[in-house]
Amino acid sequence: MENILLVKYGEIAMRGKNRYLVENQLIRIIIKNLEYLDDYKVYKEQGRLLVKCETGNFDYDEVIPKIVNILGVVAVCPGIELREKTIENIRNSALRYMKKNYSGKTLTFKVETKRSDKKFPLDSREISADVGGFILHGMDGLSVDVHNPDITLMVELRNSAYIYSSLIKGFGGLPMGTSGKATVLMSGGIDSPVAAFMTAKRGVEIDAVYFDSPPHTSERARQKVIDLAEKLSLYTGKFNLYIVPFTEVQHYLYNNVPPEKITIFLKRAMIKTAEKIALETNSLALVTGDSIGQVASQTMQAINSINSAAKELTILRPLCGFDKQEIVDLAKKIDTFEISIQPYEDCCTVFVPKHPETKPKKSIIEKIESRLYELDNLISKACKNRKTI
Ligand code: ATP
Ligand code: MG
Repeated sequence: MENILLVKYGEIAMRGKNRYLVENQLIRIIIKNLEYLDDYKVYKEQGRLLVKCETGNFDYDEVIPKIVNILGVVAVCPGIELREKTIENIRNSALRYMKKNYSGKTLTFKVETKRSDKKFPLDSREISADVGGFILHGMDGLSVDVHNPDITLMVELRNSAYIYSSLIKGFGGLPMGTSGKATVLMSGGIDSPVAAFMTAKRGVEIDAVYFDSPPHTSERARQKVIDLAEKLSLYTGKFNLYIVPFTEVQHYLYNNVPPEKITIFLKRAMIKTAEKIALETNSLALVTGDSIGQVASQTMQAINSINSAAKELTILRPLCGFDKQEIVDLAKKIDTFEISIQPYEDCCTVFVPKHPETKPKKSIIEKIESRLYELDNLISKACKNRKTI
């Protein structure tokens, strides 16, 4: 009888041949997250992953937070493994497990069994009834409630047998790095980190690009984006953050385009730069935190005028149908909100016009841009001078 952590992953199980690829990716990210905990090892079990501690002293408080948040994990269950898969051993161990965890309490319970091992002589109902009856007679304070019990004791029969009674939910989705790569334009705001999370949750590997405008934006503003990226990496595993010096591009646009259109040109320049980096790093799409109608630069007309800045790649906007409140709720759930609301200036707000145009015409924008002869050079330079974290 050994303390273990069962890791459940949902969608992966349905993905045919890709399943092994995805399982292996999940194992890699778990191993990476347990990097400094040498005693822990990860194993494949039928339809589950299994984390074991070689010393036998499983520290759940330390290990669970490092695993439960990884994208692709549906839930983790601290429990015990029984190598000897006989009904006698299951019964006795289940009773010992219940006594250890719930002695002295008055509780209702039921036993539920998953039998993946079809050779086991009893079926799942028989096992549940047998184990449930044994516990009921062997321990005080318990009664059975099959509809709404305080405790559901799970018995799973796979290569070994597993017993557990608590389940801590994860985010589900797919582990990052199983569906190609995208480049996220990440400001220090609330929206784009959420957009990055949503993209990674579909298995897409992400890189992030931040446009930095010193001295208009501070060291602290940059640190905020680094902190956000670090937080996201809890869910995704490691990824690259590119810090792009954007001051020169910004000044050039400020001096050469009509003030009410500056935001549109700035966004287009960001898209162009991000696309250049994306193409150099084998990324297949760009991602922004836009949601329709939030601000002047996110009307349908503005989005259309900005979109054509990308010549080869698709721009994904995973938040396009979200209300602000929905985005905030998700930001809180993934714990980026508190970082995002720290009050450091961002490069878009430094040059906000008094009266931004809300319905720019794409043809006019493109015509003006075709006369910005220096722009491409400045973008190339910014791109070349990026720092990778
Ligand atoms: P966010 O909360 O993500 O900052 P927002 O609602 O403030 O978004 P905007 O400031 O108009 O909206 O930005 C729209 C999108 O443009 C952002 O979600 C992000 O993808 C991108 N973006 C804006 N500023 C930057 C920046 N400094 N670096 C990288 N991307 C940026
Ligand atoms: Mg912003």
